[in-house]
Amino acid sequence: MQIPFNKPYFTGKEAVFIKEALASGKIGGDGIYTKKCHSFFEDKYRFKKVLLTTSCTDALEMAAILLDIRDGDEVIMPSYTFVSTANPFILRGARIVFSDSLPNHPNMDINALKKLITKKTKVIVPVHYAGMACDMDEIMEIANQHNIFVVEDAAQAIDSYYKNRPLGSIGHLAAFSFHETKNVVSGEGGMLVINNDQFIERAEIIREKGTNRSKFFRGEVDKYGWVDIGSSFLPSDILAAFLYAQCLSLDVIQNGRKEIWNAYYEKLRHLQDKKLVQLPQLPLFSANNAHMFYLVCKNLKERTELIQTLKDNNITSVFHYISLHSSSYFEKKHDGRDLPNADNYTNCLLRLPLYYELDLDSVNRICDVISNYYLRISS
Ligand SMILES: *Cc1c(COP(=O)(O)O)cnc(C)c1O
Repeated sequence: MQIPFNKPYFTGKEAVFIKEALASGKIGGDGIYTKKCHSFFEDKYRFKKVLLTTSCTDALEMAAILLDIRDGDEVIMPSYTFVSTANPFILRGARIVFSDSLPNHPNMDINALKKLITKKTKVIVPVHYAGMACDMDEIMEIANQHNIFVVEDAAQAIDSYYKNRPLGSIGHLAAFSFHETKNVVSGEGGMLVINNDQFIERAEIIREKGTNRSKFFRGEVDKYGWVDIGSSFLPSDILAAFLYAQCLSLDVIQNGRKEIWNAYYEKLRHLQDKKLVQLPQLPLFSANNAHMFYLVCKNLKERTELIQTLKDNNITSVFHYISLHSSSYFEKKHDGRDLPNADNYTNCLLRLPLYYELDLDSVNRICDVISNYYLRISS
């Protein structure tokens, strides 16, 4: 039987809530289900203010507008990340300065980051890779020292924690994704988290095409109009209805994923003990939200062979980012610094299937194929 890399899980409640949204006749943005989702996330994770968006990319675009990014501003982020971490800031005219990853983790190297700060640095964007926390105390201290904003790219980090503080609640702003490949999904979808009062009013305006429509609907102004720049960043309530069903099953989904993650770790740790692969190294200060299970192979050749071996056994495994500093779009804009750790993850990191409905027999099958591959090449 074919094992796909990902399979979005539907709780069964999605269609029920969507039907109710349809019956209400109100399917634009900020309807009943959007409000339910906002309250859910604000209550569960003590976020100051949440705004659903149509994607994490959109939430990051809102952040770039909110922080008044303009020509010449510098924004520091890891190179080993998705294009959506960078594009929103490029669109506002920023210069992206890429940081290397840690030797033992794809997350940004804080010591490398310190050296990249200049008078022009306006924002740091830590990416919590695989839902594992960056060292946020360190990052916030550096940022506060230099008057720099922090936007957490928490796309993969729902229900994860840094020293018991929810990821997404620490930076000035944070962006989450509900894309079908994430833990909690709505097909496409995302949210902006605002942790500072100063940004709340303007965020609502930017999300509503630069109008003060949200204030109008709360009865705070008697007519609404164009007051700032903005775009249409809010999802339909049909999408929010879908997402709310997922929210209600969030703990169930998370427990299932953690069981799978732990099974992988137990079955594959003998390969790490023999130094044949590196397994994910969870920082001591981080929780594990089981967003992803990955291996770091020794080199590109072994990774390519392993992907093929898994494929021959009807298992889909995939590599991840081509580090952005070496992408065809950015290559010539990069300042030329070597980012060896980012390059290493580009060439050697391999992601294994992980989704709620993946059963433990399949995990065993996948791990057997991997173990046999290494037995073959190391004997
Ligand atoms: C998935 C992802 C995004 C983009 O999320 P969308 O909701 O698809 O826009 C951004 N950054 C990271 C790190 C991601 O994993």
